[in-house]
Amino acid sequence: MSNLISDLAQNLWRHCDHVDEHAAPLDMDMDVDLAVIGGGFTGCAAALEAARMGAKVAVIEAHTVGHGGSGRNVGLVNAGVWLLPETVQKQLGPIAAKRLLSAFSTGPEQVFDLIAREEISCEVSRTGTVHLAHAPAAVVELHDRQRQSAQTGRQLEILSAAQTRQITGSQLFHSGLYDPGAGTIQPLAYVRGLARAAQRRGAYIFQHSPVTRFKSGRDGWRLTVRGHQLRADKLLIATNAYHEGFDDPQPPKFVPISYSQFATAPLSADLLQTVLPTLAGCWDTALVMSSFRLDQAGRLILGAIGNLHGACGRIHHDWARRKLAQIFPQLAGQRFQHNWRGTIAMTRDHLPKILSIGHNAYRVFGYSGRGICPGTLFGTALAEALLIDSTAPLPLLPTRSHTEPYARLRGRYYETGATAIHALSPAPWSRPPRSEPK
Ligand SMILES: Cc1cc2nc3c(=O)[nH]c(=O)nc-3n(C[C@H](O)[C@H](O)[C@H](O)COP(=O)(O)OP(=O)(O)OC[C@H]3O[C@@H](n4cnc5c(N)ncnc54)[C@H](O)[C@@H]3O)c2cc1C
Repeated sequence: MSNLISDLAQNLWRHCDHVDEHAAPLDMDMDVDLAVIGGGFTGCAAALEAARMGAKVAVIEAHTVGHGGSGRNVGLVNAGVWLLPETVQKQLGPIAAKRLLSAFSTGPEQVFDLIAREEISCEVSRTGTVHLAHAPAAVVELHDRQRQSAQTGRQLEILSAAQTRQITGSQLFHSGLYDPGAGTIQPLAYVRGLARAAQRRGAYIFQHSPVTRFKSGRDGWRLTVRGHQLRADKLLIATNAYHEGFDDPQPPKFVPISYSQFATAPLSADLLQTVLPTLAGCWDTALVMSSFRLDQAGRLILGAIGNLHGACGRIHHDWARRKLAQIFPQLAGQRFQHNWRGTIAMTRDHLPKILSIGHNAYRVFGYSGRGICPGTLFGTALAEALLIDSTAPLPLLPTRSHTEPYARLRGRYYETGATAIHALSPAPWSRPPRSEPK
């Protein structure tokens, strides 16, 4: 519990987005066309689409909108899924892969269009993202990614070491793969904006309303929420990594991976000329991945795999200080004003899952760390699919089950690996490299 409180208190996005939804707990019995469990990108996008289609829809959120991954996110609005397109083709076969990849290849444009259409204020920065080669060998991987992305219709640019330096302001990277159509957002403001947009179109959003039971019957689905009954013709469960408190016969199966973030105070105007001067959002090719970006106030936000609030939290915190100085020597010694963590729902093939869980009901999860575009697009498509009673809108066909062997054990393995790497790299005894004179 104390971890939960410190997590929320320290979360930069909560600090910067004070506007609370007018979304009270469910305090009566109710009847709807579509019930959505979970107020993240997926659930709120589903509610927005359903309301646009004229349906009576309710989102039931156990805590507040954006409590899960959607409010703890880095905010990188990237296209596609984690996997290389050719790997997706091997795993799904050519037809299903084409369906998924073509739906997601314009993900950032679709999300930015939705944000503009619904006038959501969420620090949109359409300044591109860069996937950075952390080692010389990784440059080949970036070239391969560029070639394969072009096959899905997405044109990315390879940056030389000098161009990478210009865009990021860091001398640490060997090359970069630049997506000029991608960008960054304030993720909590985005999900709250989705919820407000859905409300404006007539959707009901209930916060502090944990669903404790659900079952199907002759008259559709019945959810138990705070002692009240919510009856729905259709049901979408969008709880992803934050699924909790349910009497659920088939909870989502995934490997839980911690990701922690650290934000400085707003940097001075002088420093901002040398740190991410083009405002691109960045992440690297390392096995234990790191990310960095600026927010609108000019805070540098550094993130990486690892649990800041776990037994080895100190190691991750110390790593963040050294890593910041390694990437940007001019920031050595900067204190972090915010740090927080979130859980990523990773599946063994790194692909999201839609499960058909009975008549007129789906469960979706397993975005494996890329959920802004997929969550928005899956939520929108799932609402449509349920309301028109067809799988045609879905980017991925539903299956009946998904297993994830040794999920907890594999989660511990990732955490141990991240901790070991963070303990040793960048070497605790190394001095930060000297910054070049401007
Ligand atoms: C630290 C971190 C950084 C990330 N960075 C990025 C990034 O930069 N770019 C990107 O594309 N993706 C990123 N992701 C992935 C992305 O955030 C997730 O895939 C996405 O948020 C999933 O959205 P969702 O709506 O499916 O689930 P969530 O946002 O997790 O929402 C699920 C909701 O369900 C609610 N819930 C659970 N149980 C119940 C219940 N019994 N009753 C009612 N409600 C319930 C929870 O409270 C929660 O609010 C990141 C994830 C993490 C954790």
